Amino acid sequence: MKIKIIHTECGREILVRQILETGGHCPWDGKPFSKDYTAVLADALETAENAGNVLENALEKIAGMDPAMTIQPRSVLGESQAQIEALNDHGKDGRR
Ligand SMILES: [Zn+2]
Repeated sequence: MKIKIIHTECGREILVRQILETGGHCPWDGKPFSKDYTAVLADALETAENAGNVLENALEKIAGMDPAMTIQPRSVLGESQAQIEALNDHGKDGRR
């Protein structure tokens, strides 16, 4: 999983790997994504991406077993989507 991030200040696209390299700062303009949580934020982004990889791998494995089941997409993705939408709504207000 490669989470694509847009810096609300400069509008450029950034990958988690780049944020880890800069310790929580935008690689284009050097500004922190959070005044108070630069390192913690970078850490949480890495955790989210790693967790996404684990989830994707497990789902691929499950699908490969061709089991007698279906999965309700919202039960897997609903909460993640809600959190992302909440984050994006805040970003629109120019919060930093
Ligand atoms: Zn930027």
